[in-house]
Amino acid sequence: MSHNNILNSLGSCGIYCSKCFAYKDGIIKQLSSDLKENLGNFDIYAERFVNLLNEAVFEKYPDFKEMLNHFSNVECGGCRKDECKLFVDCKVKQCSKDHLVDFCFECSEFPCTQHGFDEHLEKRWLTIQNKMKENGVQSYFNEIKDIPRY
Ligand code: SF4
Ligand code: SF4
Repeated sequence: MSHNNILNSLGSCGIYCSKCFAYKDGIIKQLSSDLKENLGNFDIYAERFVNLLNEAVFEKYPDFKEMLNHFSNVECGGCRKDECKLFVDCKVKQCSKDHLVDFCFECSEFPCTQHGFDEHLEKRWLTIQNKMKENGVQSYFNEIKDIPRY
């Protein structure tokens, strides 16, 4: 993947948008849409299977379908193009633009306290940025590109 494509896939915080459930071109949306399509009219069968197979798990199908629908309809274009739908208090996106950096580790103020993250996300941000700082963006990207984000 080229440097520009890597840049488009990662927020300035370093989190991998392409594997986010909310990303419109992401694998989670793609697989959810495929599964939804392949399940067709499973609603009717799920109802029947409760008694036919005597398996109560099929009672949960409507909730599962609702989740699949949710995953299938997400529309985020990623941090570099869109507003993040998850971390609404994030200050990093605008701040990195103001500081003319692609990632926080390139900023003279890093590590700062103006990211707007909660404790959990701050920890993750610090770990990611330090990895990129030590080994480079490409090396960090290679490490995460094939593993689940969650
Ligand atoms: S900007 Fe936020 S919501 Fe959108 S894909 Fe990236 S992490 Fe997910
Ligand atoms: S001031 Fe902090 S949040 Fe802003 S770009 Fe620098 S390191 Fe990132």
